[in-house]
Amino acid sequence: MRNKLIVQKFGGSSVSSIERIKNAALRALSYAKKGYKLVIVVSAMGDTTDELIDLSSQITKNPNPREMDMLLSTGEQVSSALLAMSLQKLGLKAISLTGWQSGIASEDVHGKARIIKITPKRIEEELKHNKIVVVTGFQGINSKEDIATLGRGGSDLSAVALAYALDAKICEIYTDVNGIYTTDPRIEPKAKKIKQITYDEMLEMASLGAQVMQARSILFAKKFGVTIHVRSSLNKKAGTVILREAKMLEESVVSAVTLNQSEAKITICDVPDKPGIAATIFKEISKEGVNVDMIVQNVSRASTTDLSFTVSKGELKRALRTSRKAANKIGAGKVFFDSDIARVSIVGVGMRSHSGIASKMFEILADNNINIEMISTSEISISCIIQKKFGKKAVQVLHDKFGLGVKQ
Ligand code: ASP
Ligand code: MG
Repeated sequence: MRNKLIVQKFGGSSVSSIERIKNAALRALSYAKKGYKLVIVVSAMGDTTDELIDLSSQITKNPNPREMDMLLSTGEQVSSALLAMSLQKLGLKAISLTGWQSGIASEDVHGKARIIKITPKRIEEELKHNKIVVVTGFQGINSKEDIATLGRGGSDLSAVALAYALDAKICEIYTDVNGIYTTDPRIEPKAKKIKQITYDEMLEMASLGAQVMQARSILFAKKFGVTIHVRSSLNKKAGTVILREAKMLEESVVSAVTLNQSEAKITICDVPDKPGIAATIFKEISKEGVNVDMIVQNVSRASTTDLSFTVSKGELKRALRTSRKAANKIGAGKVFFDSDIARVSIVGVGMRSHSGIASKMFEILADNNINIEMISTSEISISCIIQKKFGKKAVQVLHDKFGLGVKQ
């Protein structure tokens, strides 16, 4: 079936109105005319999922997780049926199927279930009858035959997993941007669309705050080698292809610059400098379910040191409370926080084989009088915490000096 079958996923903004749904159907028509077989995964229309969450919150702050999944999964059912009708109206044979009918089996968890197996018998049957199959994204069925949702943004995962299970030629992700950019075009208008990017870079960018695709779906694609094409549903332009090895079209070591302004920094002062202290602090914090990101411990000259780390702003209150508790327990000093910070990062698989990239980054920031408060690195990225007010400027100068801008 390979090469004939394409999985297409239309995100919420691409099916946000009847007009957009009709557009998606027209696109499918053009593919059908070229002889492609199509499986189309849809998200809920626009902000439907948020609206459904809002409805439940008017009843309770702690809804039953099973009922919550029952509720949230309805959004995709609406869009899938409407798209199937639009396809039929164009004279195409089409059918919509739920996660259960599509054979998407999930683990017995609600709200963020993983897919454990796909048995797409029904889909294959309908494809044999030359139908376009429209599948509700974001949902599977668990061992109790209850609907389980796959985590926010989970339609991406549905699409990638189906592309793998059906051995599709490619998984196209339709969204409201033209693809993945060298940086956010709203911050730097000279940002360029990237033609090809690796799974690793994409994962790194997702973890650093780029929100184009659900990170779990990229992990899945990497594991099973599913090629993804992220593109706009509003035009016919090619977008960005995500794959294992990107062709290095240009000799660029750095592929993208990202900015994340959703973190805050906590500093615990005068932490006793002896074994087991960091373990105590971070155990307390993780017990609260707070995710700690960057950690920096100052070199101690006396017998105490300062310890700084970042957490997401949403978890700041909880993190502060536990940090103060932990500081008390170990006899450390005051606990400060700063939520006016930004994380600017450079990402690129080329960094694996090039040296001097970190020093160049620091130099560029220094030349622009931007103070670096914390640094962290991975194999393919370098991040600096700076003051929030310099975030935009940092992105622009790094983007420029690493040669990512549109040549003018
Ligand atoms: N509708 C779900 C959400 O908004 C799933 C998705 O859009 O992928 O998270
Ligand atoms: Mg959505």
